[in-house]
Amino acid sequence: MKVTLPDGSVKEVPTGSTFLDLAKSIGPGLAKAAVAAKLDGELVDLQASIPKDGRVVFIRGQDPEGADVIRHSAEHVLATAVVRLFAGAQVTMGPADHSKGFYYDFDVGRPFTPEDLEKIDAEMKKVIAEDVPFVRREVTKPEAGKIFAEMGQRFKPEILAWIPGETVTLYQDANFIDLCKGPHVPSAGKIGAFKLTGAAGAYWRGDATKDPLQRIRGVAFANKKELESYEKQMELAKARDHRKLGRELGLVNFSPLAPASPFFLPKGAKVYNLMVDYVRSLYDKYGYQEVITPQIFSAELFKTSGHYENYAENMYFAEAGHEAAGGEEAGAFGPGEAPTVEYAVKPMNCPGHCALYQMDLHSFRDLPWRVADFGRLHRAEGDATHGLMRVRTFCQDDAHIFCAEDQMAAEMASFVDLVDEVYGDFGLGDVKIRLATRPEKRMGADEQWERAETDLATVLKEKGRAFDLAPGEGAFYGPKLEFHVKDALDRSWQLGTLQVDFNLPERFGLEYVGSDSARHRPIMLHRAILGSLERFFGVYLEHTGGIFPTWLAPEQARVIPVTDRALAHAEKIRAALEERGVRATTDHSSDKLGAKIREAQLAKLPFMLIVGDKEVEKGGVSIRLQDGTDLGYLDLPAALARVAEDTEMPSHKRRRDTQKQGPVV
Ligand SMILES: [Zn+2]
Ligand SMILES: [Zn+2]
Repeated sequence: MKVTLPDGSVKEVPTGSTFLDLAKSIGPGLAKAAVAAKLDGELVDLQASIPKDGRVVFIRGQDPEGADVIRHSAEHVLATAVVRLFAGAQVTMGPADHSKGFYYDFDVGRPFTPEDLEKIDAEMKKVIAEDVPFVRREVTKPEAGKIFAEMGQRFKPEILAWIPGETVTLYQDANFIDLCKGPHVPSAGKIGAFKLTGAAGAYWRGDATKDPLQRIRGVAFANKKELESYEKQMELAKARDHRKLGRELGLVNFSPLAPASPFFLPKGAKVYNLMVDYVRSLYDKYGYQEVITPQIFSAELFKTSGHYENYAENMYFAEAGHEAAGGEEAGAFGPGEAPTVEYAVKPMNCPGHCALYQMDLHSFRDLPWRVADFGRLHRAEGDATHGLMRVRTFCQDDAHIFCAEDQMAAEMASFVDLVDEVYGDFGLGDVKIRLATRPEKRMGADEQWERAETDLATVLKEKGRAFDLAPGEGAFYGPKLEFHVKDALDRSWQLGTLQVDFNLPERFGLEYVGSDSARHRPIMLHRAILGSLERFFGVYLEHTGGIFPTWLAPEQARVIPVTDRALAHAEKIRAALEERGVRATTDHSSDKLGAKIREAQLAKLPFMLIVGDKEVEKGGVSIRLQDGTDLGYLDLPAALARVAEDTEMPSHKRRRDTQKQGPVV
């Protein structure tokens, strides 16, 4: 057998040798590090014999695919331990995707207790220490059925029936046998480290009418160091969890009376509105006009847009009877006689903006027509809701651009500038751009797709921006740009997006009169910068740990009198700050100075202005920053200037600086 290695060298191996033999012949280090192999791009077991000539790549536990193999193998070890510890345990299955972790659903007749998990953990460690081999075999379905029947496994026949073909593959480690496509590590010892992360109830096939099951979750790694860094990351994430911070800082809360719908408390609403004001402050510069559109529409609108057909399960509907007959029809019906009208709460702004566009005849001179909308949206999200990250009511910094085809490129370029400006002001530096292109199932002519995709790529290249191409991942109605931002915990979030849409203008029959006096169809661009503001609020809260940039802090400065003697002077300073547009308060509590400072630090306040007898006497103030920096005593004008310098919204500050410089000729 001849194999080609990644460095281009060709190696002759005896028939019957395994990939592990090959790795060993190259070097003991490689054999130790490898957890699987790839033959001509296909992932295979290291312990399998090399079946044919081809290109061989060894996959290590640190590689993403290798890490998947380790987690999947740990999942089998978990089941091995459960079967050993719980007589008659019924095993079902784990997830297909092991990119984040692993789980396995069991039926042991009762929920797992924390003590159970400890025992399972210890048993798994034993299996790994025993370094039991993973053995793969191919059997016919009836043979597999017999094996599982002997093991008394009641879910396996059903799973077996779903698998197409005559034969199936089984993997065995120690006494545990499972239906599985693999691949797996050659032996359990390759699982360097694992951690069970919890147990919870589940149902067979996710169906609440079927057998209740108990799910155990875990993570696994190639070595202990990776597990430790994962645990550190988890601790950080826990400390920064936006739900926890949101409550502690008095920003946001939730009630079961409105599931998955946030209540922004006064401080949170302040920050939220500042985000809106900030984005709004850029709209003149980029040529957007803000509109306010209805919350509830006749369902007809969504029939035209296609959402009624394709998105109804995520929408809220409302029916209204006689009171719905307003306008000319008012009074035309007796009580209970009016036809019922079906209404829908908007899940997005786009259809309403198309209706708005339709109200007037547009000339090519009006285009591009850019309408922005902070409209409240409602989506009937299912179980996947999470804090502010996935909610049922939210608003986006949303806008739609209706333009002619030859205007697209300029609009795209302007949007990239807008995104850069916004992310820069929020201090989001690590931005990755993806360009998602035409999927197999799509609408619109190929020339249209070609033009839009080329425009997007050209704009990015001209701006010197690197981007990843995501072939086939565009929406069915057009290609799109996605802006992915890395947060302080190294997690990536998709925030901004620009989507070209050939579909909605078609469905709504939108037109403009061209310079040739003929009617043309405009292109619609959907675009958002921060995306859902609720989600961005959550992301940003975790990114900053609640220490917002000064311009966004709900309370920017707190004046702290050391004793009551300084209270009058403190009040004077607060009033002077407020006059300069600073959001300032005075600490009226009778606490000791240390406690007052600690309180202000916990509230993540950017500025603490401390007033004692000395400050009263000299007329100034001492300043401390959030990070503990002590600026010492400053006279009043200097102190006010120092605070006001940081508190202004960056877009306003830039505009003022430009005005100061005078017009550029
Ligand atoms: Zn498996
Ligand atoms: Zn849209």
